[in-house]
Amino acid sequence: MNCLLCQSRINVKEKFTNLLLLNFSEEIICESCHGQFQKIQNPHCPSCYKNMEIEECQDCLYWKSHGKEVNHEALYNYNAAMKEYFSKYKFQGDYLLGKVFAREVRKALTKYKDYSIVPVPLGKNRYSDRKFNQVTAILEAANINYQDILSKEDTEKQSSKSREERLGIKNPFSFKEGISMGDKVLIVDDIYTTGATLQIICQLFRESGIKNVRTFTIAR
Ligand SMILES: [Zn+2]
Ligand SMILES: [Zn+2]
Repeated sequence: MNCLLCQSRINVKEKFTNLLLLNFSEEIICESCHGQFQKIQNPHCPSCYKNMEIEECQDCLYWKSHGKEVNHEALYNYNAAMKEYFSKYKFQGDYLLGKVFAREVRKALTKYKDYSIVPVPLGKNRYSDRKFNQVTAILEAANINYQDILSKEDTEKQSSKSREERLGIKNPFSFKEGISMGDKVLIVDDIYTTGATLQIICQLFRESGIKNVRTFTIAR
């Protein structure tokens, strides 16, 4: 078996160690590729996990000044290796790569046991291009039950819109018909950039009366 990221051969000894450690990424990527991902460590922004921030970061201060709370957790830095990973996973459609972080995600989500886990959906067109939702594929690989209760309208690419259109962007997310959920919600996405998408979704939940809304991504 070759590493899905660098194509180098994964040797038998490595496989055996991974098996002993019950590593879900076994046989998917090699140790050297795995070693290039950087876990977020202290210090990090207390609100969004941005690395190397001791106090609330600029992004979080921006949201705060607009009356929005940020309650976010992320696992890894969005470094070059992570960028490369998501490009292979999402845009080259390598579904199997959804398994790479399964063990870490499972471990991280144990503290959200009493939360409804809600993945960020793709629009219909995006979904039919990609054939899978990169977030639900990760949750499934991690054996996490989730609630597929959101839908997303297809929106044009940001770059094809005028500035005025972009600023007036309307919420493309809505609840599916006849859904039910608990009073605590964890919204899960792949990458946290400015937090804008997650803020739109948080707002939707808060407006429907759910006060405890948190967010989680693989990378920040
Ligand atoms: Zn590799
Ligand atoms: Zn922050």
